[in-house]
Amino acid sequence: MSHCIDLRRALHRHPEAGFTEFFSTSLAATELSRQGWTLHLGQELYETARLGVPEQPVLEAALERARAAGADPVHLERMAGGYTGLIATMQRETGPTVTLRFDLDCVEVQEDLDVPWKSLTPGLMHACGHDGHTAVGIELARRLSELPWTGRVNLVFQPAEEGVRGGSIFSQSSLLQGTDYFLSGHLGITNDAEDTLYSTVSHSMNTSKWDLTVKGESVHAALYPEQGINALLAAADLVVELYRLPDNDQTQLNVGTLTAGTGRNVVAGEAKLRAETRGSSRESHDRLNQAFGETCREMERRHGVRISQTLAGEAIYSPPHPELCALAAGQAEAAGLRSEPKPYPMMGSEDAFYFIDRVHREGGQGAYFIFGTAIRAPHHNPMFDFNEAILEKMVSFYTALTRELLSAPRR
Ligand SMILES: [Zn+2]
Ligand SMILES: [Zn+2]
Repeated sequence: MSHCIDLRRALHRHPEAGFTEFFSTSLAATELSRQGWTLHLGQELYETARLGVPEQPVLEAALERARAAGADPVHLERMAGGYTGLIATMQRETGPTVTLRFDLDCVEVQEDLDVPWKSLTPGLMHACGHDGHTAVGIELARRLSELPWTGRVNLVFQPAEEGVRGGSIFSQSSLLQGTDYFLSGHLGITNDAEDTLYSTVSHSMNTSKWDLTVKGESVHAALYPEQGINALLAAADLVVELYRLPDNDQTQLNVGTLTAGTGRNVVAGEAKLRAETRGSSRESHDRLNQAFGETCREMERRHGVRISQTLAGEAIYSPPHPELCALAAGQAEAAGLRSEPKPYPMMGSEDAFYFIDRVHREGGQGAYFIFGTAIRAPHHNPMFDFNEAILEKMVSFYTALTRELLSAPRR
């Protein structure tokens, strides 16, 4: 069995949710430091504020699990507080700069698969394949360290892709300045395209994740309900009004959770909601978010409640560069992949597009690929698994493409 599959299985056994990727980061850092990469980890990677950081006890429990699993204590100390993730750089003489991004985090799903590398942590599972992405990144690092090239390579091991929280932060790192080419991608996604490289994508969505708290006032429900302010009623009204907002097929909205109240005979004093908005264009999404805020203000006036609205994650869509995607397609066959020129319609959201957006603004080119392979169940399902044979092909593809880009004249 290849080292890459070994790595994937080790990562699969120790799944970690967004901003708790202590074991995964440390594993990548340990491997890459042996290969001569310069490592950057901890708070220096966080140049802008974080969204949706887990509560302190969750962070501490995850850190202790990583310690028990054998993570390097020096790495753990630098990541304390949830400053997970890694950027590794290697510079050899002068030449173009290529940045590749791999996501580290798992999903909050209880695994039902019965495999020897099953998740050891209840409630957490690599049900999206990011264990494969991280393993590919580590193996690519080893290949590149052994091959000749000149220029600069940045390998980004990004935390918190699920809930789209890490991409915005890591894409802004000053370490990535001067990137000429940016590459990232996802394995699986489609089940009918074994060993297929989709060299470009379309229809990824702009999205915002919102945490809402509705504050009212609780009193006895029968003695003097008029003296209370019913947060549950206001929240229910809010949900109904929010669902009226998407007015065309370009925008979507979902309220995923609503919890409220403390007892049957008590007017509910507080309600909490978790919602998300999506839009296929930035303009339509901005308009939806504006209407979202106005609806909250309207509910405050109608019910006398106070509503706080906190951003818990966000992603944009910035289309990949056609020239780079066409060049990438040329490397498919040698890596054992069939190239599919039709863009793959993503429909969901992905925070890698923050990197593409920045690189394009700074005059470089960015691409995002789908590596089609057999999946056993849909992504985020308790039975999710993928054909591990794709990993070696992804490593070969990224290695060849990176070296080709490094040998290109500097942009
Ligand atoms: Zn996912
Ligand atoms: Zn994913």
